Amino acid sequence: SPPFDINLVRQDFPILKEKVNGKPLIWLDNAATTQKPQSVIDRIAYFYQHENSNIHRAAHELAARATDAYEAARQKVQSFLNAFSPDEIIFVRGATEAINLVAKSWGEQNLNSGDEIIVSHLEHHANIVPWQQLAERKGLKLKVIPVDEDGQVILSEYAKLLGPKTKLVSFTQVSNALGTVTPAKQIVEMAHLAGAKVLVDGAQSVSHMKVDVQALNCDWFVFSGHKVYGPTGIGVVYGKQALLNDTQPWQGGGNMIMDVTFEHTTYHNAPARFEAGTGNIADAVGLGAAIDYVNRIGMDLIYQYEHHLLVYATRLLKEIPGLRLIGTAQDKASVLSFVLEGYRTEEVGKALNQEGIAVRSGHHCAQPILRRFGVEATVRPSLAFYNTCGEIDILVATLHKLRSAKPLSFR
Ligand code: PMP
Repeated sequence: SPPFDINLVRQDFPILKEKVNGKPLIWLDNAATTQKPQSVIDRIAYFYQHENSNIHRAAHELAARATDAYEAARQKVQSFLNAFSPDEIIFVRGATEAINLVAKSWGEQNLNSGDEIIVSHLEHHANIVPWQQLAERKGLKLKVIPVDEDGQVILSEYAKLLGPKTKLVSFTQVSNALGTVTPAKQIVEMAHLAGAKVLVDGAQSVSHMKVDVQALNCDWFVFSGHKVYGPTGIGVVYGKQALLNDTQPWQGGGNMIMDVTFEHTTYHNAPARFEAGTGNIADAVGLGAAIDYVNRIGMDLIYQYEHHLLVYATRLLKEIPGLRLIGTAQDKASVLSFVLEGYRTEEVGKALNQEGIAVRSGHHCAQPILRRFGVEATVRPSLAFYNTCGEIDILVATLHKLRSAKPLSFR
């Protein structure tokens, strides 16, 4: 049984009371986005009802309230990631914008023709395309850490890719397509020994495990608020303070400047340096409330319970004839990716939707890793702490029914 009161937890998420096709909603699309607890919804409404103002600039009561709420959210993110200083936390739109920020600022300024960037075969398109664009513009080389048959990165192959030309290693802590948890600390250490900087994509990790950026010792860490029970449109770049202040901003405008003349502009240090214009104040505050919520349950208990769900679901899915699970690494979080013989992935998704079950079927914005396993798409249930073994039973029963509706081919 769960290490917390699952019924109470589920009551915190109003959307879980929805019906879909007359059935109770079973939300198993958590890798795409998570649902929001009432406390997050209320916090955003409270901001607009009692605190709404632009921040920093004006000297009146509501500006002070909005600024305090925004900066309090930054501190919550700081302690959530165990960053050294709140000045290392930059608010952006999401993980995608976060990676683009690093590519268009640090990458643009520091990488030159012949330099090499290493990513893993597991990456989301958000951690491939910005580097590819930069590589095309600057004549850089993009190298890829291969994965084994279980979908885990092969460290011995990674070691061979590292060299004096390696300037950046950018990789995901948890794969959104397979659920693989990568050996992040080791990947970071090996990159640093080669003299490269490291970006960790935490879009799929922060909601499932404790993250400590100082222990990880990465140079940047990025994530999206909406995948950790916060609102859409808000995300984070963590960067080491000295590195951020050594990097020129990527966008110019209000808020980020110290002084402007027509001849010359001087910039603030981070975080303001990278927060040009009016940011998403209300949703940053909402993200702070989401972190409070997660902390109240406790990341250790979340990890423990979700692991139990994952093991349970994996065992039952493996018993379905003709179901091929893709991503079988020892260390996994949340994600179960599979194909069902005789069915297109959309057909499976539609059949599950008939039963109120929401999963993603498609390429999950990670085409290279799916092609590595010879498929263009998978069905992808992904778990969160508000899911139950009962929900998994309904998923599995529906798949068994689908399975028996069509005979298996001879093998
Ligand atoms: N990286 C990973 C591993 C992801 O799973 C996602 C979202 N699917 C992203 C980056 C991009 O996040 P967003 O779309 O919120 O910017």
